[in-house]
Amino acid sequence: MKSILLGCIADDFTGATDLANNLVRTGMRVTQTIGVPDGPLDTDVDAVVVALKSRTIAPAEAVAQSLEALAWLQAQGARQIYFKYCSTFDSTAQGNIGPVTEALMDALKTDFTIATPAFPDNGRTVFKGHLFVGDVLLNESGMQNHPLTPMTDANLVRVLQAQTRRKVGLIDHTVVARGAAAIRERIGQLRAQGVGVAVVDAVSNDDLLRLGPALDGMPLVTAGSGVAIGLPANFGLAPSQQASQLPPAAGLQAVVSGSCSLATNRQVAHFIHSGRPALAIDPLRIASGADVAAEALAWAGPLLQGGPVLIYSTADPAAVKSAQGRLGVEEAGAMVERALGAIARGLVERGVRQLVVAGGETSGACVQALGVTQLRIGPQIDPGVPWCHATNDGGLHLALKSGNFGTDDFFTKAFTLLQ
Ligand code: ADP
Repeated sequence: MKSILLGCIADDFTGATDLANNLVRTGMRVTQTIGVPDGPLDTDVDAVVVALKSRTIAPAEAVAQSLEALAWLQAQGARQIYFKYCSTFDSTAQGNIGPVTEALMDALKTDFTIATPAFPDNGRTVFKGHLFVGDVLLNESGMQNHPLTPMTDANLVRVLQAQTRRKVGLIDHTVVARGAAAIRERIGQLRAQGVGVAVVDAVSNDDLLRLGPALDGMPLVTAGSGVAIGLPANFGLAPSQQASQLPPAAGLQAVVSGSCSLATNRQVAHFIHSGRPALAIDPLRIASGADVAAEALAWAGPLLQGGPVLIYSTADPAAVKSAQGRLGVEEAGAMVERALGAIARGLVERGVRQLVVAGGETSGACVQALGVTQLRIGPQIDPGVPWCHATNDGGLHLALKSGNFGTDDFFTKAFTLLQ
């Protein structure tokens, strides 16, 4: 493997794919790894995104994992490090964005970095240091009620300052609008004032493209996935078909869905209405001890030759609540994830080589059941969701869709795009 240009550390799995997708769209060849690899990869790419699951674990553990990822990326020659977090800046008063940023700065011996979750394509904008989700402030977006990382303050300078000993400052929109030279000048001023981390305003992709050149040579960048669109150009790369090229697709096609998000419910309904074969699995039947995975695979076996089949636990909120009430939230989730993981494994054993998985946690469970540890990132199906390729089982194409992503016809469109 040749030296990589950009080394990325993402604090969760589908967030890693989202970042990788933005890098591929803007010209980089990217591999995503699940956890820190044991040794060098056997592919040539411009960037590697190491996907951790460090968003809500204890800060000390998040720091340890991030430093392990950093050491591996440095060993692969990474010239710049990108710490990727959620575009809603998901964190608690303890972190983990602040502590991980600080630890990476220390390890890289750098006294300055930026922080911005801005991702205008997905409605996340930062203005005067305040994060907006669509038209409302972060703390009015529903994120104030998040079970693990409630965000009750939209002022990111204040939020981040509570998590770090480094002084936090702001590069506001009046500066960003004037371009890279003005941003660089402002960075110089902030550094002189002892600021270690600057939140950066961005309300459009143009802002992110102006920010990109100002980050050239900065050892560490911390951001959501948006900032990525301005970075490949710093390495002389431009958008190209070649960046997203995957080996040709072969084999049978299937969809496994464990997401109960609104968009996924619509996608399941769309697939069923298009007349294709679909089978619902019921958490209560799994709990009763039935071998639901074996039943689903026996159902799918004879149908697979005819085109894509769908196996889903996707249900409306009332049905999900009812199952959770009977089984417990976590237990219901874990049972369904185990069953869908086994189904994904069984489908691949029956010749499926093009697999769409819906649901962030569900994707994690399926990827684990399939033994996938590396994914080459290919063309985008819908914003935030690319086709990926793993070398497992002689070559496997995977599309891992987090809950609310994708148009209603995603489950059929995805396969059409791959042909
Ligand atoms: P999303 O990306 O939409 O949040 P996830 O896969 O991350 O989807 O999360 C969905 C969770 O709900 C998983 O833990 C899954 O196992 C669980 N689940 C799926 N179907 C059901 C159901 N019918 N009843 C209860 N829980 C379910």
